[in-house]
Amino acid sequence: MNILTFDIEEWYVWESLGLFSSSERKEHDQMLDRLLNILDSKNVKATFFCVGMMAVRFPEIVKKIKERGHEIGCHSNVHTWLNKMTRQECFEDTRQAIDNLQQCIGEKVVSYRAPAFSVGEQNSWAFEILAENGIERDSSVFPALSELGGFPSFGADIPSLISCGGRTIKEYPIAMTSVAGKKIAFSGGGYFRFLPYWYSLKLMKKRNYNTCYFHMSDFVKERRFTRQEYESYFKEKTSLLSTYIRFAKTNLGKRSSWKKFEKLLGELEFVSLADADSQIDWSSAPTAIKL
Ligand SMILES: [Zn+2]
Repeated sequence: MNILTFDIEEWYVWESLGLFSSSERKEHDQMLDRLLNILDSKNVKATFFCVGMMAVRFPEIVKKIKERGHEIGCHSNVHTWLNKMTRQECFEDTRQAIDNLQQCIGEKVVSYRAPAFSVGEQNSWAFEILAENGIERDSSVFPALSELGGFPSFGADIPSLISCGGRTIKEYPIAMTSVAGKKIAFSGGGYFRFLPYWYSLKLMKKRNYNTCYFHMSDFVKERRFTRQEYESYFKEKTSLLSTYIRFAKTNLGKRSSWKKFEKLLGELEFVSLADADSQIDWSSAPTAIKL
C-alpha cells in the first residue's frame, strides 16, 4: 500500500512573512493546478494536510482541493513546530487549526501531520492533545534521528496504534531504510528529491507500506530567507552561513523532482490516508506507544 500525502502551507507562510509577490502566488497556484490535474488523470486520491490559517487566508485553495475529492487533513494552525510549543500552546493551536479547517470545508477533520514531523519522545504528549481534539489518524512520526529531531525510539515504520488514555490514534509513520547502519527515509521531501529515482522506486516496490510526502516547495523553487526572516519564522538564532546551507538543501534536486514524481504516479498505485484506513487490519497492528 502506497499512501500519497501533501503538506499545504506555503501560501500562508510566505504571505505572513510579507514575501508573497503576485508572481510567486501565481507560481504556487499553477503548481497546485498541475498537481490536481495529474491526480485526476491517474484517478488518484490523496490526503492534503493543510495549515489551519490557509482556510482563513486562502479558503479557495482548501476548498478547491476538497472539491476535487481529496481528503483534507490538519497541518497545525500556523506551521510552528510542535516541539517549540508548550502543552497549552499546542492545545490551542490544534483546536484553532481544526476549527478553521472544519468551518471552511463543512466536514470533520480527523487526520493530522505535525510541521516538520516535530513530534518526538520529549513531546509525545502531543498525541493526547490530538486525540482530545478528535484526531483519529496521524502521520507525524519520523521513526529515526533526523536533523529536525525525529522519533527514533518509536521503533515501528509500519501502521501502528498509539494508545492515549481511553482513545486510540492510528499512526502512519514514514517508511525507513538502512544505509551504512543509518536509517533514512526515501519516499518524500528532500530524500526523494536527492536520491536517484530508481533507488526510491526499488525500495518502495520491496515494501508493502510506504507513505509519500511532498510540499509544494518540493516542486517550486524557494527563495532564500534573510537571517531576520529565518529567525522570526523558525524561532531560533542562526548564522548567515546556515541560511545559505538551508537554502541550498531546500532547493536540491528540484529541477527533476516533478518529472520523478510524475513517473512514480505512473508506476505505483496510491491511496489517501482515509482510504488506507479501511484497508488495514488494525487488529494485528502493533501498539507503539501507551500514554
Ligand atoms: Zn509543512
